[in-house]
Amino acid sequence: MSKSAQSLFAIPLGGLGEFGMNMMALRYADDIIVIDAGMMFPESELLGIDLVIPDISYLKQHRQQVRAIILTHGHEDHIGALPYILRDLEVPVYGTRFTLALVKKRLAEAGLLESTVLREVLPGRRVELGQYEIEFIPVTHSTVDCVALAVRTPLGVIIHTGDFKIDHTPVEGAGFDIHTFARYGNEGVLALFSDSTNVERPGYTPSERAVVPRIEDLARSAPRRVILSCFASSIHRIQQVIDIAFRVGRKVAFVGRSMVDNVEIAHELGYLRIPDGMVVRPQDIRSFEPRKIIILASGSQAEPMSSLSRIAVDSHRFVSVDENDTVILSSRIIPGNEKAIFRMLDHMFRRRALVYYDNSGGVIHVSGHASQEEQKLLLQFVKPKYFIPVHGEYRHLFRHAALAHQLGVVSGEIILVENGHCIEFTEDGAYRRDPVAAGRVLVDSGSLEEIEEVVVRDRRHLSEDGVVVPIIAIDKHTGKLESHPEIVTRGFMSDNGNDLVGGARDIVLRTINTSNPEERADWSVIKEKIRVDLKRYINKQTSKRPLILPVILEV
Ligand SMILES: [Zn+2]
Ligand SMILES: [Zn+2]
Repeated sequence: MSKSAQSLFAIPLGGLGEFGMNMMALRYADDIIVIDAGMMFPESELLGIDLVIPDISYLKQHRQQVRAIILTHGHEDHIGALPYILRDLEVPVYGTRFTLALVKKRLAEAGLLESTVLREVLPGRRVELGQYEIEFIPVTHSTVDCVALAVRTPLGVIIHTGDFKIDHTPVEGAGFDIHTFARYGNEGVLALFSDSTNVERPGYTPSERAVVPRIEDLARSAPRRVILSCFASSIHRIQQVIDIAFRVGRKVAFVGRSMVDNVEIAHELGYLRIPDGMVVRPQDIRSFEPRKIIILASGSQAEPMSSLSRIAVDSHRFVSVDENDTVILSSRIIPGNEKAIFRMLDHMFRRRALVYYDNSGGVIHVSGHASQEEQKLLLQFVKPKYFIPVHGEYRHLFRHAALAHQLGVVSGEIILVENGHCIEFTEDGAYRRDPVAAGRVLVDSGSLEEIEEVVVRDRRHLSEDGVVVPIIAIDKHTGKLESHPEIVTRGFMSDNGNDLVGGARDIVLRTINTSNPEERADWSVIKEKIRVDLKRYINKQTSKRPLILPVILEV
């Protein structure tokens, strides 16, 4: 290794200390590259916020030096911030074919497709960028076309795993390229940044194929329809369900925007094999023989307006759940979503559906992230001088560090840092440096506005656009409206104030009347529907965006 007067800086900007919004910058001399640009969904207490992205002040301050954004895979927590970040930072984006296909869709929606340079990379190949040479190493995970990065710098090789698990029997594709990790390990790796998500789990994460026996059993013995929900990006899972459907003599249907979009993209690019004549159109589901169909639906996290949530309360146009239908939740229950998911499943149970949502009777879901033994294996292959756990809340990073310590393969130091904490690598060692600005930026996806602080946003809303509080009194026994909806407004002025309040009342009434009893009984659903409908109405009438806080009184 040649002597280098310059230092290499690693600057984590997201995903260290939280799950989601993964992003890290590497800087050597005048060359900055950014690894991933993810978003996360807000906690429910962030009223009116649609999503959260990393603070990129550091990148904006050094915009002349940012050479590229490099993506490891297409999950939202790795690409979701791109439509916002690329408005501030015009840099090329590198990613594999499937990842870029998902990116294209988002950029097109944001009107940024024309102005963005996208460069497709091949797993196993290398790209030169400034003073870096980057190799894209194939890894296995819960979506397709995922890579880890080996970044050769003048000071040594940096390996960033992205998200991974070590799946020896992948459904499709090259599999986990352990040999390349080992090759770099033998050559000498300066620093390893590795996925900590599942560090709390001992053992190995089962192969993606592990879900087949149980799901096939359920599909074969199901007395009627099968409705299976998984993440729309879980292309391997979707492939396996299609294969199972074929074997048990059922056809498949896809419902939900993200499910339909992803299946279309994956099919077009050859990542999904669907035998001819296998697909039933959504509008034909109702008339299709229930014993002959599997419906793949998005919405496994019970997002308020998703297909599965609508199906659960019988407000989906094409799909309903009836007695003896089989419902399979083939996905993780993300912490924070438990309440909404179990409330949704309760609706299914009430309809006497056969509901499967955990692995207690056989495996219906496996994780896409490495458990402890795989994390250890990777550390042993890579044998880095410095090890920095990434992707997790603080306890995950801490436990991953402890795991590495126990293993004793890190020759230099294990470095525990959080977002903004800068690490400087020199010829002599690695040092913690003063933190840079980092944190969460809250975004309202409707207006594409960035909000520095929720407080600021609320204040602005209140000062400029005011607040609208629709108050609805519902009889808890009948689910019927007790009285006319009240609309209370503060700081919300308009020339035609009374007309507007009258109109808003009509909107609320219409929203409630067009909802079915189950939706009405589910306050989170009905509140969200009212909020969305009123937001649209008021924005159209006044081009204002007041804070809308529906209140439901049970009388
Ligand atoms: Zn991922
Ligand atoms: Zn991730």
